[in-house]
Amino acid sequence: MSVVWRVGLTVWCLFLTADVWSAPSSQKWEEQKGQNFIIYDRDVPQDFVDTVMASAQEDFGRVTANLGISRYQGWSWDKRAVIYIYRDEEDYVQNGQQAGWSHGAALAEAKVIKTYPSAQGFFDSMLPHELGHIIFREFVGMSADVPLWFEEGVAMYQEKAKRFGSDRAVREAIEKGQFIPLTELTDMRLYKDTDENTVQLFYAEAASVVYFLITEFDEQHFHQFCRELKENTRFEDALRKTYVRIKGLEDLNTMWLRHLEGG
Ligand SMILES: [Zn+2]
Repeated sequence: MSVVWRVGLTVWCLFLTADVWSAPSSQKWEEQKGQNFIIYDRDVPQDFVDTVMASAQEDFGRVTANLGISRYQGWSWDKRAVIYIYRDEEDYVQNGQQAGWSHGAALAEAKVIKTYPSAQGFFDSMLPHELGHIIFREFVGMSADVPLWFEEGVAMYQEKAKRFGSDRAVREAIEKGQFIPLTELTDMRLYKDTDENTVQLFYAEAASVVYFLITEFDEQHFHQFCRELKENTRFEDALRKTYVRIKGLEDLNTMWLRHLEGG
């Protein structure tokens, strides 16, 4: 499960255990069914709901293509993902039982997203990011060996701006001696009380290295890498198997740093 929260214009999404996820209340919801999505809303203007449906549908096509699963069967009928749009922030926090700092939440396993209309970055960041989590996890499977930084990096790659500026943030961290090497990043977990600078650096590095991996090599390799993960190949083995030039996490770290320092 993931919870997204924002500070300024940054979208963060924290993975938490599923036991903190609560099912949406049974209070009255308006229902709208689309090809791949069902939207439930409470007192949300119809044109907003229509825009969410159209955007989600468009994101679905873009994300599946990005992940190389464009021949994906889609989510018709009982496989559709569900988006709950609460009336406002108060309704979302109180009745959606979400933390006050979050603007959206998704449970990949159940393919459910919760949010509210004024959530920051709704269409450009939140929606594609959360859909990215759901589609990626559904493709590779819940048991696939995926470090949190990769999961988040893949979700951020789906955002419209693809976390523009993350390379610069990582370069700054290198200069200040705060850079976290990939092997350490792989062991990192984020919690509600993890300090803001650490969380920010975690996301900047995740976005930067996944972007590097996708753009330095061709997309076909990335798609192949996702298929290896789907086969339950261990993460580092999948790296070695797909990218012959990359001998492991440390090697990827070296290549990524070289790229950052040269760019
Ligand atoms: Zn996320």
